[in-house]
Formats: sequence, structure tokens, C-alpha cells
Amino acid sequence: MPAINEKVFISPARYVQGEGVTARAGHYVSALGKSALLIADDVVWKIAGEQLSESLKGSEVRFERVAFEGEASTREIERLADLGREHDADVVIGFGGGKAIDTAKGVAEQLNAACAVLPTTASTDAPTSALSVIYSDDGEFESYRFYDKNPNLVLVDTAIICKAPPRFLASGIADALATWVEARAAIRANANNMAGGKATLLGATIGEKCEEILFEHALLAYQANEAQIVTPSFEAVVEANTLLSGLGFESGGLAGAHAIHNGFTALHGEIHNLTHGEKVAYGTVAQLILDQTPQAELEEYLELYLALGLPITLKALKLDQASDDDLYRVAEAALKEGESSHNLAYELTPQQVVHAIKAVDVHARAFMEKVGLSE
Ligand SMILES: [Zn+2]
Repeated sequence: MPAINEKVFISPARYVQGEGVTARAGHYVSALGKSALLIADDVVWKIAGEQLSESLKGSEVRFERVAFEGEASTREIERLADLGREHDADVVIGFGGGKAIDTAKGVAEQLNAACAVLPTTASTDAPTSALSVIYSDDGEFESYRFYDKNPNLVLVDTAIICKAPPRFLASGIADALATWVEARAAIRANANNMAGGKATLLGATIGEKCEEILFEHALLAYQANEAQIVTPSFEAVVEANTLLSGLGFESGGLAGAHAIHNGFTALHGEIHNLTHGEKVAYGTVAQLILDQTPQAELEEYLELYLALGLPITLKALKLDQASDDDLYRVAEAALKEGESSHNLAYELTPQQVVHAIKAVDVHARAFMEKVGLSE
């Protein structure tokens, strides 16, 4: 590896968060374009479509709403880009969860249009980044697709997000908890971040702050979400899941947790019903074990994951019936060339990854027994 110490930090141009900010979407989007391709699935549209369309109309933004069909795949991006061309879209709005957002970013790039991201859950750190995670039409991880720029606008309405099921918030917390675990490992190894350079002090600080906020406020935010109320702790965790996690992973770096997540997508069966964050939670504990994290520190993570109902046993991950061959497939996918597992300071064999996956289950169950939780 050439020792080029070029530091790079990237981010969206504008981030707006608050209760009811959908009413301001027209104001912000009209600065980006006058003709919008609005990508939203039917469920999201039913919940909050009217609010958004009122706001766009009020600011004289024309829009064509197209239905997102569920997978952030090359085919879906091409299909929606064709619709955008038909309607001369100069701005693409992604309204929904992580995959709808990743699709919108791909469509905006194809159209050379501006991109506005309006997440309806705080379940991933997709909204702010200049990349999409591309899946096959069957939902298997294919690749990261990188863009020249981050979204122009990220607008997060906490009034909408607090109505989403708490499982989504917990998933976003898991994705955000991976941020510092992975970034600090990548930084230690002097690996490149997702922006193609070394981490700046700011990139690293964001990741560290993200973790601090989550350990202090994640459970309070989860409780607020269960009651569908917006509190300052809820606002802080939505920001940690979306802005801090998004900037922190992209300008800090990924490592083992996301590589193991990507490995899990190579399996078929019930694991596909788990969210991105749920699989990342398991991958994060596996990386912590590979990093030789001391018991007391490891248990702090285990405690938080369990309190949030995140799957950190093989049974909860729907892999209690998985064979060693299955786990090998996961490990081999996690260690593919170009995977972020190579950002760790140490080399790994598939066998070591399989052992780490099993160790997560062993340590999680031992901890549950210690604190009197049953599986
Ligand atoms: Zn993620």
C-alpha cells in the first residue's frame, strides 16, 4: 500500500431535523430543482404523502410520485431513472427507508439531478452518504456504488420517525454503534475511509461522539419511540443514527462488522427477514471479539444490544440450524477482495471468522445467564 496520507472528509450540503419539518420540504427542495421525481413506497406514501405533497405544491415544485418496488438493485435504479427522464426531473426525492434512499441516490446520479433524502425511519445511516449499497433482485449484497457527491439535502422529520416501529430505531442504533467500533479499527490500521482517504480528526470525533450519545440515550429514545413521543433524547438518538453515524462511517471507515453483515446476506432462509442493523449488531460483536475486547467492555455492548431486543445469539439471528458450511460461506463472503474486513489491522482466515461468529453466541448466552435473562 502506498503511504499517501491524504485526509478526506465528505458530507451532505444541508441537514435539517425536527418535529414536523416535512412542512418545510418544499422550501428546501425548491432551492434544488423545480421538477421532482419522488420515490416512495406505497406504505410510506399512505402515512405521510399528503403532508409532503402539500409542502411541495406550496413551493411550486412539480413532482411525479413513483412507487419503489423494494430492492436497491441495478435494475430498479435503471427503471426509475427511465421514469425520471420521461418527466425531465432535475431533482430526485427519496422518501422512505434505507433501500428507497439508496435507490434514489443512484437514480439522481444517473439523471445528473440534485438529490433530496427524506428518511421515514432512523433505521440505517444511508441518508447522508455518497454511496449506495447495491443488492441483487433476491436481496444478496452485491457491491458499494460510490458517487461524486453526497445528497444535497437530508431532511429528517422526527414526528414521522417516532411513529415507526421501535424495531427500526433499534436497528439504526445497532448500525450507529458499529460506526465507532469500525472507524477506530480502520484508523488504527491506517486504512482508507469510504471517501477514499484517511480519516480527519473530525471524521474520527464524530464516530466517537456517536457512540457516547447512544450509550447515554439509546434506551430513553427507544422508550419514547414505544410511546410515539418526541423527547430530547429521542432527537439526539435520531441524529446519532442518521447524521453522526452517516458521517462517521463514511469519513471514518468500515471494517469487520459490515463485512460480516454482508457475509450474512449470502445465506438464504429466515435471516433475510432481519433488518440491516440487526445483522450489523451481530457482526459488531463478532468484530469486538476479534479485536480482543476485554470482558467488561464487551459486556457493556452486550447489555445494550439485549436491552434493545437486538439479535446477538445464533437463535435470535435465525441461524441456530446453520451448518458449519453455512458459516464458512458467510466467512468467505466477508473476506472477499475489496471487503471492508481488510481494513482491520490484522489478517483473518475464514476459520477465525467462523469462530468469532460462534463466540458471539457463546458470550451472549453466558452474559444472559449472568444477568438472569432467558433466551
Ligand atoms: Zn450500515
